[in-house]
Amino acid sequence: MNPQFIPQQPFAVPPSQGLPPTHRMSPSPSPQGVQNMPPGISKPNYYPNKYGPPPPETSLQNPMHNSELPRSAQAQFGPPPQSQPNLGPPPMSMPNQRPMMPQHHQNGPDSSQFGPPQSQLSHPPSNKPDMMQGPPMNGPPSFKPPNQFGQAPPLNQPPPMGQPAPMNQPPPMNHPPSSMNQPPPMGQVPPMNQPPSMNQPPLVPQQQQNTFGGPPRPNQYQGQPPMGGQFPPRPGMGQPPLPSQPPLMGQPPSQFNAPPLPGQQPPLPGQHPNQFMPNQLDNQMQGLNLGGQRQYPGGPMKSPMNGDGGPHMPPPLGQQNYINGQGKSPMYPPMPGQSPMMSGPGSYPQPSYQQQAQQRRLDPDQMPSPIQVMQDDQRSRSGVFCTNQKGLVPPLVTTKFVVQDQGNASPRYVRSTMYNVPITQDLMKQTSVPFGLVISPMARTVDQEYTPPIVNFGELGPVRCIRCKAYMCPYMQFIDSGRRFQCLFCKAATEVPAEYFQHLDHTGQRMDRYERPELVLGTYEFMATKDYCRNNTFPKPPAVIFVIDVSYNNVKSGLVNLLCAQMKDIIKNLPIDQGMEKSNMKVGFITYNSTVHFYNIKGTLAAPQMMVVGDVQDMFMPLLDGFLCTPEESEAVIDALMQQIPLMFGDTRETETVLLPAILAGLEALKASDCTGKLLVFHSSLPIAEAPGKLKNRDDRKLLGTEKERSVLTPQTNAYNQLGQDCVGAGCCVDLFLFNNAYIDIATIGQVARYTGGEVYKYTYFQADIDGDRFITDVITNISKPIAFDAIMRVRTSTGIRPTDFYGHFFMSNTTDMELAAIDCDKAVAVEIKHDDKLTEEEGVYVQIALLYTSCSGQRRLRIINLSLKTCSQMADLYRSCDLDTLINFFAKQAVYKLLENNPKAVKDNIVSRAAQILANYRKNCASPSSAGQLILPECMKLMPLYVNCLLRSDALSGGSDMTVDDRSFVMQAVMIMDVPNSVTYFYPRLVPLHDIQPDQEPIEVPAPIRCSVEKMVDHGVYLLENGIHMLLWIGLGVNPDFCQQVFGVPSPIQIDVDKVTLPKLDNPLAHAIHSVIDQIRVERHRCMRLTLVRQREKLEPIFKHFLVEDRGLDSSPSYVDFLCHMHKEIRTILS
Ligand SMILES: [Zn+2]
Repeated sequence: MNPQFIPQQPFAVPPSQGLPPTHRMSPSPSPQGVQNMPPGISKPNYYPNKYGPPPPETSLQNPMHNSELPRSAQAQFGPPPQSQPNLGPPPMSMPNQRPMMPQHHQNGPDSSQFGPPQSQLSHPPSNKPDMMQGPPMNGPPSFKPPNQFGQAPPLNQPPPMGQPAPMNQPPPMNHPPSSMNQPPPMGQVPPMNQPPSMNQPPLVPQQQQNTFGGPPRPNQYQGQPPMGGQFPPRPGMGQPPLPSQPPLMGQPPSQFNAPPLPGQQPPLPGQHPNQFMPNQLDNQMQGLNLGGQRQYPGGPMKSPMNGDGGPHMPPPLGQQNYINGQGKSPMYPPMPGQSPMMSGPGSYPQPSYQQQAQQRRLDPDQMPSPIQVMQDDQRSRSGVFCTNQKGLVPPLVTTKFVVQDQGNASPRYVRSTMYNVPITQDLMKQTSVPFGLVISPMARTVDQEYTPPIVNFGELGPVRCIRCKAYMCPYMQFIDSGRRFQCLFCKAATEVPAEYFQHLDHTGQRMDRYERPELVLGTYEFMATKDYCRNNTFPKPPAVIFVIDVSYNNVKSGLVNLLCAQMKDIIKNLPIDQGMEKSNMKVGFITYNSTVHFYNIKGTLAAPQMMVVGDVQDMFMPLLDGFLCTPEESEAVIDALMQQIPLMFGDTRETETVLLPAILAGLEALKASDCTGKLLVFHSSLPIAEAPGKLKNRDDRKLLGTEKERSVLTPQTNAYNQLGQDCVGAGCCVDLFLFNNAYIDIATIGQVARYTGGEVYKYTYFQADIDGDRFITDVITNISKPIAFDAIMRVRTSTGIRPTDFYGHFFMSNTTDMELAAIDCDKAVAVEIKHDDKLTEEEGVYVQIALLYTSCSGQRRLRIINLSLKTCSQMADLYRSCDLDTLINFFAKQAVYKLLENNPKAVKDNIVSRAAQILANYRKNCASPSSAGQLILPECMKLMPLYVNCLLRSDALSGGSDMTVDDRSFVMQAVMIMDVPNSVTYFYPRLVPLHDIQPDQEPIEVPAPIRCSVEKMVDHGVYLLENGIHMLLWIGLGVNPDFCQQVFGVPSPIQIDVDKVTLPKLDNPLAHAIHSVIDQIRVERHRCMRLTLVRQREKLEPIFKHFLVEDRGLDSSPSYVDFLCHMHKEIRTILS
């Protein structure tokens, strides 16, 4: 396949000031954006798998146990095998010619944190081109003239944006530089014992900020919103230069016994942010009434809560003790020597009380509220986000913003835990804030954003630094009249290839820079040359292979029938590449039970042909031709096959299946076709058939939450790890769709998804009539989404720092390159970056992420993602520029990884002490002196205590014996691939009231969320709670009868059938609005969540309450108030 060398999306020249945009300014909207919209979603199902209705496991496992057919009888299903094992070609052997990638960085021993030690790898040496070992710089001169990218640049224009904008701008602050040495917020702090009511509401500083020239105000751009697909306006295009102050400057530390009081005075105009009181949580913390009584709004909880707490819920704890704890001894909970917390349910030290607590009660409303933080950010930072400044902290992921790429990558592709990097290792260590990047290289853009333009240098290939091999980017500085460029990553000067030469203007900038995405944008793509391809050959379009378990369970549940019936619609949704009109991906089909069956679907055949490989010990590909075909050319044959498969296996009695040989079959099929691609494996049960990858049942949920949990959370055999490595080596990604009725050992079989950039979907107790729509939606979403195949990702940094630790779903055969058989728009990886030298304050930090991949049309391309950060010598600067959401995502991935190696208590203790260190250090070095009883938090991390508590009590980290081992493994894997927008909601679920919805408003919007606490709920309310995995609809017993009738079709909540997994389709505006909200939320998540109805005070309510993360957990996990007190104590301990 010869990739086209025409750029699919021409890069448009920014028009000169005052000129109307030409037609070239409007690249067509991304086809991905259009065609990947998840299809209509309907019919939610059941309650969360985790708490699934347990048909007794034994009764469903191996129902046919005593009626298995002898293996010899297996061939009777379906047409006679046309090929037997030994008739086929010999097993394909792995290509062995892959040379190991040269390692550029000599990373320390800790740098290969992922995967087994390298010595264990029997992975064939990679023949993937080293992204560092680029092709020769002086290729044949077939370089296309610059104007392929558009018109000649407006030469007579002043260079408004031409200076490699982000770097050369003066430090964007409105403080005099010297003030940076002071913790600005604290500089003028009034006395600390000011009564709380005197404090300003936390909101104020941010509002203030805007008046001082903060980030672009939403209405600033109202006159000219970027058109769809159009290049957003740039400063040089008639926009006034942006105010250059970074948004977080001058924010005071959080004030959090100063809640915004109703009717409290707004800030005085002109009041300087610095004048605001820092917040204090002073000694009254010691006398808290911790609000332990989670009195249910409707009154005391009734017996259903206690006795029948749902399938696997532990009984609720003695909340009454907690309530009545007044009058006991004061101060902080744990006794000296007592282990503070996190040693399991019930062990959290319960704060005790003082009489005076009554007077000085800490109102949870006075603690920092995530809802308030999100709303403030939405208010102050929505609109256009320009990436023209180094170290500019992006809006929160929950804020609706449109990115205007001006030299740094969109935060959708990469977010950093910090945007101001301390210059020394000592400073880093002292603060304890990790420097981490969370990277989603294939993230979707939103409506008005354009997809990264593709740059084609023809046979010259991408221009790179001669030393560090960084790719041409806005951070390269042209010198020597344009004949050389200096790399900001390694400082080396590289000669400009003749084909790439361009004169410099009087400011020293290349005159063609506006024509060249790689000189002005943060994210763009290069067409790769053959040197970047396997075996120096351009790839074929990738393929999708459906690998379907046709054993008894999948047939009985209706899965096989449903999947085959829907296949035609599913494969219509294969992704379409930028600029292409249709997908040219191929599809193939394999079925398996205790044997593996391949199908020839060549379009010229009258009927599909089946080939059975009975010898699963030695898998090979029996078909030379006709296995992979395009859906169009083989439409009739595929249709026939989809009719035959359910018939062939409809009477199956096979309950024992293989798994590993089936995946191997898919791998061999791809290799035989010289294709990369992905396998969608639809599997039903623990693979116990006699074959490679056979597993034993080691289910023991009692171990979860204990020191021994690793014994069920780590793989029982390395066979699936090895298989995963083999798959990565061939560019074969594996997604597992599991339909288990019993233990299936995700910890083991999930390794193949983990190593290959895939993921696991789980439909426990699947029934086609109930879960079918959700499942089909998931499959279609899966195959249609933007995806990169056969990828290698490398993170380069400027000197003085280097990436050391990597977390996510990929494989590493050296210490620098993440190998991803595929990575799609919903997946993120985390990378930790450490110092190996001192940085300078002037230069900043530069990061370049290069993703070499094969697009869904078979083009080999490089996506380049550039990010520049500032450096600082003062801690206060760091504490102004942290992104807490990214930090929590990073901590979560790191913790999940560490749980597989360490004692869970140690992992969690470590998170707590690290968070305490971060906050204590702020207190010590950045806050002005104050009494030790005051808790003072940095503004951008004021939610850290809450979020750390959410992280610790999440199912991924703490799921105990109330969940199954598979569910635990499932959520751990889910966290490992989560991007930041999803992790925010996973750890702090979204709770939206539905009872106040205004059905006559168009369009219907998802109501604003409320805090995750039962205290925020009312009896007559109806609430939807979701965390990306589960979706629960809580119905209060006092719900308005009209509402009830219109939405549920019955007048009283008592009459609602809560076993239903869908809401009735009623034809009235209110019902439409509710359905619309549910659908909108589902579309935001890449897995279709099933809907669980929960009626107030009934058995499922504890499950719902499990997700009210500000409250005390039923497993006695600490409430927000509890944990805040605990953190405060930890901080005081560190400081004393
Ligand atoms: Zn370099």
